[in-house]
Amino acid sequence: MNEMELIGRCGLYCGTCSIYRAERDSQQWREKIAAEHNTTSERVTCQGCGALTSKCWGYDCKILQCIHDREIEFCDECPNYEKRTCSMFTELEDRYTRYGVNLRDNLEMIRAGKVDDLIRFTEKVFTCKSCGKLRATSTNCFGCGAEG
Ligand SMILES: [Zn+2]
Repeated sequence: MNEMELIGRCGLYCGTCSIYRAERDSQQWREKIAAEHNTTSERVTCQGCGALTSKCWGYDCKILQCIHDREIEFCDECPNYEKRTCSMFTELEDRYTRYGVNLRDNLEMIRAGKVDDLIRFTEKVFTCKSCGKLRATSTNCFGCGAEG
């Protein structure tokens, strides 16, 4: 698989997204997420930001729509990025800062061709300290249930 398929246009690494992980790691969590969003577990599916199909959870992403409208590839090409005036990006950025991931650093790494570093760093942040499995953002560990 091309690793760029798992790199979000906002700088996120899709490999630790709860939708992406639940589909691959835990049918139980998949059903839980589906119930929380009032949908079926089959809908909890995604191939990553760079390989979206109409079935993917991320297909309707507002950030992605904005990127397309602006005819850019990544958020850091937008004039609102430097000015810090994009509320969509700021909201996401703030959320991920709490998890220990800096989306601006990520976008810089993508620019510098250091996608491997980005993935390695993010996976380190989201490796469960109890069982060693890769965790997902904003959920308990799918492997052992430990809190994040
Ligand atoms: Zn665990």
